[in-house]
Amino acid sequence: MKGLEDYIPKRKISKRGGVSEYVSCWTEKDALNGKVVDALVVILRTAGCSWARENGCTMCGYFNDCNPNVKGKDLVSQMKKALERPQGQKILKIFTSGSFLDEIEVPADVRREILSMASERFEQVVFETRPEYVNDETLGDCLSHFEKVQVALGLESTNNLLLTNSINKGFLFEDYQKAARTVKESGAALKTYLLIKPPFLTENEAIADSVNSAKRIQKITDVVSFNPVNVQKGTLVERLWRRGEYRPPWLWSVVKVLDDCKNLSPRIVSFPSGGGKKRGAHNCFQCGGEFLKAIEDFSLGLREDFDDLRCDCRERWLDVLDLQGFTQSSIDMERYYK
Ligand code: SF4
Ligand SMILES: [Zn+2]
Repeated sequence: MKGLEDYIPKRKISKRGGVSEYVSCWTEKDALNGKVVDALVVILRTAGCSWARENGCTMCGYFNDCNPNVKGKDLVSQMKKALERPQGQKILKIFTSGSFLDEIEVPADVRREILSMASERFEQVVFETRPEYVNDETLGDCLSHFEKVQVALGLESTNNLLLTNSINKGFLFEDYQKAARTVKESGAALKTYLLIKPPFLTENEAIADSVNSAKRIQKITDVVSFNPVNVQKGTLVERLWRRGEYRPPWLWSVVKVLDDCKNLSPRIVSFPSGGGKKRGAHNCFQCGGEFLKAIEDFSLGLREDFDDLRCDCRERWLDVLDLQGFTQSSIDMERYYK
């Protein structure tokens, strides 16, 4: 019998980006010690996530940014270039399209060199990793360079059925719990990414899963960052989307999730990538800008709710919630019933 992994499109690892060119680098706002500050975000071009090379998550197209020829010295050059940018940021976010603590992706000596280069300039470092690479040694390395370390784990959902049969995450909730404990015991802070609307779920099921997942981890994590799915190239999600069998979440759903979680103990944030566009979380394309601004303000602690948001498309969203529940189907209703 075929498993989910048999339907994941074959990964074509891109060689477009030069080995010493980072994928992207920008300055954005984030919160530190209750204040809004600048954060430097660097996406390093690595040889790719080990899990993506083996199989990969159904919504993840980060492999498009990788280059299998990247070596450790190239990562150091990329980081040096990123650090040449204007200064003044308090937070450094290092993203790798995989796991910063995976020694196949970022060799241990390179990881240390990168941290050492950055330690003078930033108050806090943030990086993403899968749970299997979290241990006292890898965390100890980071904490020896930075007093404030935030580890970001991409859990996506606490529901093992979804992790296995919808997301193909390659680990279970229990693996996340173990890594989360190690992070907290080390003294580092923990951010957890939850996905809004993995494939095969109705809009209502997706909202419920996100809210339930946040509630289940509220005593474990310091920050919950909701990532509404955006349709990335070469993924199973893209294949479903092209066939009308998947629609990214409505921004109405995103604000409902945030609103339902706003009183939980972790800080609740969301920075939807591709938001307002057809591949990202969107409503009617008229109100996207207003919703995204409200979501950003909420995430930075500048607003408490979304009660003032209005648009005629709310009725369409409510109809979809009803109709999907009635038909028990996760297809893109509006595409079929226009
Ligand atoms: S979502 Fe993370 S773990 Fe999954 S394939 Fe992408 S980079 Fe790897
Ligand atoms: Zn609208």
